[in-house]
Amino acid sequence: MSLEQFKNRNVGTQNYKTLDVGTKPEKGMAQFVQVVQRTFKGELFVGLGVTMKAMLKALFANDMATIQYPFEKLPISPRYRAIHEMLILLESGNYRCIGCGLCEKICISNCISMDTRYDEAQRKEVSEYTINFGRCIFCGYCAEVCPELAIVHGPRYENASEQRAGFSLFEDMLTPIDKLNLQQEYDGFGAVSPNADENIKQTPLAY
Ligand code: SF4
Ligand code: SF4
Repeated sequence: MSLEQFKNRNVGTQNYKTLDVGTKPEKGMAQFVQVVQRTFKGELFVGLGVTMKAMLKALFANDMATIQYPFEKLPISPRYRAIHEMLILLESGNYRCIGCGLCEKICISNCISMDTRYDEAQRKEVSEYTINFGRCIFCGYCAEVCPELAIVHGPRYENASEQRAGFSLFEDMLTPIDKLNLQQEYDGFGAVSPNADENIKQTPLAY
């Protein structure tokens, strides 16, 4: 395959249009003439007219093609899989995670790190849980494999930090305290039933 063929290898299949840009003038005068011709072609004013129209519409009709991020945000799909969330049990407020370690084992980027211990009642509890978001590729395997629906992908996509260490802080990234009340249940094994609020006083477990 020649270099030209290689460059154009996708052109036919994706309906690209090739512009006729003419030949490059060699001499100085010819180059000057080309610049003048291109500068004062009618298309220049057509383009300016389009810009002016859009500007007037934005100024006087409040009809803007852009959004004022971060004050306005485009809706994202409910299936969007962004930063993980560690869910809590709505009844007790305890974390749903039982420390089984499946998410840590299945993670193909090896970015989940967790530790468990036994509490006073000899129940296993998760003592540490971090995800290195600098390495995570958001494949979703961890959420897929979790038997308790404890870790899920949430809709938060705005995550920035001055330090890489900030990409794994449990409180900041995985369970932001001020957003706990926004957590939503996901259907599946272990999920709270839709009428959980009605049954909450009948739950026999003390957790
Ligand atoms: S989404 Fe994939 S890469 Fe990221 S923590 Fe989960 S399993 Fe690992
Ligand atoms: S798979 Fe779920 S329950 Fe098991 S350790 Fe991971 S988050 Fe916790």
